[in-house]
Amino acid sequence: MKKIVTAGEIVVEIMATEIGQTFLEPGRWAGPYPSGAPAIFISQAARLGQPCGMISSVGADDFGKLNLDRLRADGVDVSAIAVHADAVTGTAFVRYAADGSRAFIFNIPQSACGRIAIDAAAEALLAGADHFHVMGSSLFSDRVVEVVRAGIAAVKARGGTVSFDPNVRKEILGASGMRAALDAILEQTDLFLPSGPEIFLFAQAEDEAGAVAELLSRGISAVVVKKGAAGAAFHSRRESVEMPGFVVEEVDPTGAGDCFGAAFVTHWLRGLAPAEALRLANAAGALAVTRKGPMEGASSTAQIAAFLASAEIRKE
Ligand code: ATP
Repeated sequence: MKKIVTAGEIVVEIMATEIGQTFLEPGRWAGPYPSGAPAIFISQAARLGQPCGMISSVGADDFGKLNLDRLRADGVDVSAIAVHADAVTGTAFVRYAADGSRAFIFNIPQSACGRIAIDAAAEALLAGADHFHVMGSSLFSDRVVEVVRAGIAAVKARGGTVSFDPNVRKEILGASGMRAALDAILEQTDLFLPSGPEIFLFAQAEDEAGAVAELLSRGISAVVVKKGAAGAAFHSRRESVEMPGFVVEEVDPTGAGDCFGAAFVTHWLRGLAPAEALRLANAAGALAVTRKGPMEGASSTAQIAAFLASAEIRKE
């Protein structure tokens, strides 16, 4: 089976427990939960039984241990997650507004995440990797952009493939040199996974079909557009497939895109038809929103199969 490697932030997440609650109110918080978009992605891929590894960095503290224990239990190769005695693990506080939006306070570049680097352990991990996944959220410093570039180069040199979920935060997009870095990553991308309107950050066209055509003409093999509760669509030069989502009760949206992406990439690497990979990825995304906590929503193959046995497809 093909080995997937990703690189980027590992954090703990502390979540508001009530909609509308502000950061100014002590008390009502839940967590710490293991988190970080690439960490959620790799946890989900590992739970599906895919060989997986991650290049990252945590502090020698309980938040780092919480993440390492979880990723190890999921089956992730943690040999390239460095533990630094003189740094603390990253944190993210999240609150929810009534309109469904979220606001975060991050401590990422200043934390152990700021130390992410290609060391001997990362080189060894990449030497056995067949696929590299890039999370836009991870491009928070020139240093991590370099790590991502090295990861892409190593995997491509072995004849492997690259997926890219832009997941770009506004403050990252505005950083100097970021546009060029994103374009360089896109040039190397085989499978692109934007969510909804994010696609227009990477194409000039004003509608989705035009934007997809533009991206495919740049050499990307496939574009998968995530559409929240509505499901997702797959586009390649050969075919386009729309797949409606499943009806579930949303408890916590964080991590849905990461779980969806991991399930899609895993099944795409296994050679499944796009429609089937989309169906399984929609199930992983739907299950992710039914559980509180960013990584808590990642599912095993058996959990996805049990869900699909009675799942209702969204109509409209
Ligand atoms: P996030 O950044 O919150 O992790 P995203 O914006 O990258 O997510 P979404 O499109 O919100 O990605 O969700 C990814 C996938 O998860 C969707 O394509 C869909 O399959 C599933 N999903 C998300 N929300 C729901 C929901 N409320 N009901 C059912 N499925 C959902």
